[in-house]
Amino acid sequence: MKPSQRITTLLGGGSDGWDVFNKARDMIADGVPVTELTIGEHDIRTAAPILQEMHRAAMAGHTGYASVPGTSKLRDIVAARYTDRTGVPTTRDNVLITPGGQSALFAAHVAVTDPGDVALYLDPYYATYPGTLRSVSAQPRRIATRADDAFQPRASDIAAAAEGAKSLLINSPNNPTGVVYSQATMDGIAQVCIDHDLWLISDEVYDSQVWEGQHISPRALPGMAERTLVCGSMSKSHAMTGSRCGWIVGPPDIIAYLIDLATNTTYGVPGYIQDAAAFALEQGAELEEEIAAPFRRRRALAKEVIAKQNAVSLVPAQGAMYLMLDIRSTGLSGEDFANDLLDAEHIAVMPGESFGDAAAGHVRVAMTIADDSFVAALERLCKYAEGRAG
Ligand code: PMP
Repeated sequence: MKPSQRITTLLGGGSDGWDVFNKARDMIADGVPVTELTIGEHDIRTAAPILQEMHRAAMAGHTGYASVPGTSKLRDIVAARYTDRTGVPTTRDNVLITPGGQSALFAAHVAVTDPGDVALYLDPYYATYPGTLRSVSAQPRRIATRADDAFQPRASDIAAAAEGAKSLLINSPNNPTGVVYSQATMDGIAQVCIDHDLWLISDEVYDSQVWEGQHISPRALPGMAERTLVCGSMSKSHAMTGSRCGWIVGPPDIIAYLIDLATNTTYGVPGYIQDAAAFALEQGAELEEEIAAPFRRRRALAKEVIAKQNAVSLVPAQGAMYLMLDIRSTGLSGEDFANDLLDAEHIAVMPGESFGDAAAGHVRVAMTIADDSFVAALERLCKYAEGRAG
């Protein structure tokens, strides 16, 4: 029997960008002590009080089918979070609870693209983006941002690619670059969306991790609330990656259609998970800051290490749990550098090329290990780059 073309071509052919990661995992399995700076997952686990609430809710019986759009309580809390943070009046009718941000990205594209429609995305990109667009049978169209612009997208580049497109997917704070889009960048993006009648899908899963500047949600810009779907998640803000709880915030008519989609696909998110998410969000910004604090601290430590040498330079690290390092002085591709670094120093980082051609000659470092080990690994990485730069 033949599987669908959609599913067999999901990854688009070629390397999936995880070679270095897989090699590192194999080395670890063979007993080699590898310092892993690859994956975007906190080095802490979900806080005990959140788990206690999850347990309480489950024991109290919230284990049956939960309301498909999300519990009213969680939808209200998420709505209030967006009203507070963006000034855009938001109610539960603007909110669908989803099984994580990834599922929100998928559903958002189902809602706004038909098979064959062109869906725009920016390079460098979070690894799943092209596959997510192909999974809805959209035609992904990549727009390169430039290292020389510190990966802030240019409105003119987006406009030049926008002909015939239906949607644009953006991500700020950005994985993999760590860049937070400026007001000028967001204004430019909003204008292109209005001029070319594009839906904007705004992946804001790192909105609680901003080290420099300010997170601007494009939904708050003039004329944008009606054409923007914000994808959010508990994963990064509350160290709840495994709980699979996220959301889409958007216009009520689209949310109503998305509820139909959820009814026929996910059938919602477990009630005890939603109760725990509601509890976590009710703790306020202080908890989110506490969870983000190790990354803020490590980013400051990294800046000190990088200031002491010249072989590696840091793309402005404004947000999210990653650093993007420019290693072009070594003359190596990100992929060769990452492979050689793994062999020589047993340090695993992600090649920039895993996230698109625009990040060639870069590597992404996840700030997800203890401070001392992180600093030591970064010092060794810089020293190794110095050696290779000769
Ligand atoms: N968007 C970006 C940019 C991400 O980095 C991730 C996870 N690494 C996601 C979405 C999906 O996260 P989740 O499904 O856990 O909410």
